Amino acid sequence: MPTRQDMWDHLGSDVDILVVGGGITGSGIARDAARRGLKVALVEMSDLASGTSSRSSKLVHGGLRYLEQYEFSLVFEAVSERRILMDIAPHLVNPLGFLFPVYKGSRKPLWMVNTGMWLYDGLSLFRSPRLHRNLEPKEVKVEEPALTTEKLTGAPLYYDCYTDDARLTLETALDATRAGATVATWARVVRFVKDEAGRVLGAVVRDEIGGEEKEIRAHAVVNATGPWTDDTIAMSRRIEHSLLRPTKGVHIVVDHHKLPVQHAVVCFHPVDGRVLFAIPWGEQTYIGTTDTDYDGDSGEVAADLADVDYLIEAAAAYFPEHRLQRDDVLSTWAGLRPLMRPATENKDIDESAVSREHQIVVGQDGLITIAGGKLTTHRRMAAETVDTAVKLLRLSNHLPERLTTA
Ligand SMILES: Cc1cc2nc3c(=O)[nH]c(=O)nc-3n(C[C@H](O)[C@H](O)[C@H](O)COP(=O)(O)OP(=O)(O)OC[C@H]3O[C@@H](n4cnc5c(N)ncnc54)[C@H](O)[C@@H]3O)c2cc1C
Repeated sequence: MPTRQDMWDHLGSDVDILVVGGGITGSGIARDAARRGLKVALVEMSDLASGTSSRSSKLVHGGLRYLEQYEFSLVFEAVSERRILMDIAPHLVNPLGFLFPVYKGSRKPLWMVNTGMWLYDGLSLFRSPRLHRNLEPKEVKVEEPALTTEKLTGAPLYYDCYTDDARLTLETALDATRAGATVATWARVVRFVKDEAGRVLGAVVRDEIGGEEKEIRAHAVVNATGPWTDDTIAMSRRIEHSLLRPTKGVHIVVDHHKLPVQHAVVCFHPVDGRVLFAIPWGEQTYIGTTDTDYDGDSGEVAADLADVDYLIEAAAAYFPEHRLQRDDVLSTWAGLRPLMRPATENKDIDESAVSREHQIVVGQDGLITIAGGKLTTHRRMAAETVDTAVKLLRLSNHLPERLTTA
């Protein structure tokens, strides 16, 4: 494999597509574009997956909770992608059972949750890792002994998948290099190069280790910088309204014996009703996530005590005999969801209700920006972004000849 220095040295001055950002979105785009035969460079200012793509809940899932928000197309797309990722990356995407306990007086009665489960299995065309089934309270006592069964009416057990988010990103980027892309890490875009009409022609990239700068000319430039989306756009044009409404998500990690869950357990926070998971993870269990608006520095996002207490409080309600204390927390991680700001902004919309759908925006300056979406749907996001880039290349007569008939 080429070293990081080889990749920097190899970073050419002319490419078809320059991708800014080496999270799952940028890596997926580089992979897709290189596999179509385009000359691609990807630059990442830090390490691959150092942003949100190593700070997720690590699930490849349809997002059962989005059914409640009637986001059927999002769920359909996600469960279809879950199936494809299980097929193409079986070493990275594995089935995981999720237990959904329903108590007397719950927001949704058991019959409604079970109907949702049928819909969820149906949207996957009954090709879920396994079909759901309902567990009676006495079965729950055996299958998930740490969980409180007081006032439990039943607990559907359904299946989604877990992954290693950073490794999925890394392997996607490696696949891009195998297809011919140049992927340079510790390479930051510091400004865009533009023509007289203000159209983006490329970027100046700085080697964050050696300090050297290079100008890369590209026929299409893609901004896939996740939580840094607005900062990247601001390097090219004035931003009237930010494109993003980033929200912070925190997880806490405890020893598995402190919270010995056998399945991922779906919990509703006792105070605000938000959906959380307690997920078994080898010798540990992690609990997350919070979902709060964030307007600080994207590079400085971290858990605070209020986040930790909030998660401990949820765990206490579901696992009262394993009451966690702050001292039980081995570590935390925090990430920013690069969610698109709704077109008609309403600050009263709860953070959890902001759509997870992605959007592709082509600015007056020609910069293609992709934001929103999920780890799970990165392949589709990449395909749509590369389609957009190819359209621009065709319009500007820069589509490589070998691709013009494709
Ligand atoms: C708490 C939480 C839980 C989540 N859980 C799940 C889940 O379970 N399943 C799921 O499917 N999705 C989940 N998501 C969503 C998913 O993680 C994100 O949608 C996805 O990781 C975003 O990837 P990205 O590539 O767009 O952004 P990032 O991973 O942040 O990548 C952007 C990259 O751009 C780089 N960059 C920024 N500026 C520059 C520059 N000037 N020059 C060069 N590089 C630059 C950054 O260093 C960064 O690496 C979760 C998100 C959060 C926050």
